[in-house]
Amino acid sequence: MAYQALYRQWRPATFSDMVGQELVVTALRNQVQQGRIAHAYLFTGSRGTGKTSAAKILARAVNCQHPVNGDPCGECESCRRMQGDASFDVLEYDAASNSRVEDMRQILETTQYPPQYGKYKVYIIDEVHMLSDNAFNALLKTLEEPPEHMIFVLATTEPQKVLATILSRCQRYDFGRIPAQKIAGRLRQAVEMEHREATDGALMNIAVAAEGGMRDALSILDMCLGYGEKVDEALVRRVLGTSGREFLFRFSEALIEEDAAAVFSLIDQLMREGREPAVFAREMARHLRAMLMAHYCPGELAELLELTPEDAQSYIGQASGVSDTRLMSMIDLMMSVEPKLRLSSSPRVALETAALHACLRTGEEDTTALRERIETLEKQLAGLREELHSGALTVSPGAARPEKKERAPEVQTPKAAPAPMPKDLQQVWKGAMEIVKRKNPGLFGMLSSGSLMEAADDCFVWGVKDESFFFSLDHVNRPEHREQIEEALSETAGRPCHFTVQLPETQKKATATEADTLRGLRETFGADRVMVQEE
Ligand SMILES: [Zn+2]
Repeated sequence: MAYQALYRQWRPATFSDMVGQELVVTALRNQVQQGRIAHAYLFTGSRGTGKTSAAKILARAVNCQHPVNGDPCGECESCRRMQGDASFDVLEYDAASNSRVEDMRQILETTQYPPQYGKYKVYIIDEVHMLSDNAFNALLKTLEEPPEHMIFVLATTEPQKVLATILSRCQRYDFGRIPAQKIAGRLRQAVEMEHREATDGALMNIAVAAEGGMRDALSILDMCLGYGEKVDEALVRRVLGTSGREFLFRFSEALIEEDAAAVFSLIDQLMREGREPAVFAREMARHLRAMLMAHYCPGELAELLELTPEDAQSYIGQASGVSDTRLMSMIDLMMSVEPKLRLSSSPRVALETAALHACLRTGEEDTTALRERIETLEKQLAGLREELHSGALTVSPGAARPEKKERAPEVQTPKAAPAPMPKDLQQVWKGAMEIVKRKNPGLFGMLSSGSLMEAADDCFVWGVKDESFFFSLDHVNRPEHREQIEEALSETAGRPCHFTVQLPETQKKATATEADTLRGLRETFGADRVMVQEE
């Protein structure tokens, strides 16, 4: 017998064989039992969750001569014909390759002929969202007045792209991601049927990597079995390589544990498998962000990030071993290195450096800030020296800051001057973030997807580096949220502070905020001569 891929061999033959999707299966089975068959169904859900399998079982069940509890019997003439895929009564179309209206007309023309053997002709249209508008409209005409013997099953991963007029004529069933535990159970059956050996951990790793899709899980298992060895965790890792979520977990584990050797070896593996460092840095930033979210909304994590409960649990587990300030600085490092990786002539070195910074935290933040300050001072010194040499600047005894004097004819001393601004603005920001975190964890979560872009005097500018976090911008930019952040900053600094959000280039010009104006004034007239009075 020719070799058949596992997912074909293991395609469920009855509703009872289907793993997961209990709600959908019960509803369809009841319809068959009670003879209440609809003319049009829409099956939605991510890839490999059983949409096409369910459609095929439905086609067999409605035509079966002796259905058993709504399942096809598998023995009658109709069932036997359909099992061999030799029936003209079930037709499967891939809308991706038959997307034109001409293709659709051809398909629909055949609907006028009655079924050859069974009661119904079943048309399964896969990836139906790929149809052109004209093709949709042609389909709609048939759905408006379907022939008595016709059943359409439309399957799609993207229901939002299907015309509303089509949706309203279909019975809709949503196929959820299959829990990893259930996938692993089915993988165990497959391994036993093949008379092979596999560890539970290995099967669970495959199930998790498949992200809720049975077909992907069986394909990965198939590849593992192809090695002819016992299927254990090491083999699954080899087969999945660096592309699975498991690799991201291993990488973040190395960062958290400050295991520099592991970081180097994982990056080595990444490069040997030809992965793009920039893409990896981006994935890593998202992975770390998921862990940050796990700190604040563990209950809703699965729903927010569309994870299986098991995956969500893995994030929550790993996140419990690391502080959110550390996670934030790791996210920062990964996001700031990503654009550099695209341009760098040695992306590997750049990635290793960023990863090591994320990994070895001892005093790292302090020294970076210090180094930056020393660099600024050195530049200022060099500039002064040059001015001195050229004679542009003269120092007279008794005048500490001669250049100021020329520009300051009169200095108004306010009656109650606010306390001086603390020198370490990063420290003020951190303190304020602690307050926001306590008072409004949701807002803190949003702030964590971006970072402090600029801080000068008492103005703080926050922004996001990645356009996929633009939703946080809107949230943080709400007046009541900006106010909360300003309050926290003022409380930390011991004097009034200003907070503003850095908008993407496109919006920037349209909205100059108060703080932008203030910054401009200060640049023009000098910081000590512009004072803001709160009304
Ligand atoms: Zn039958």
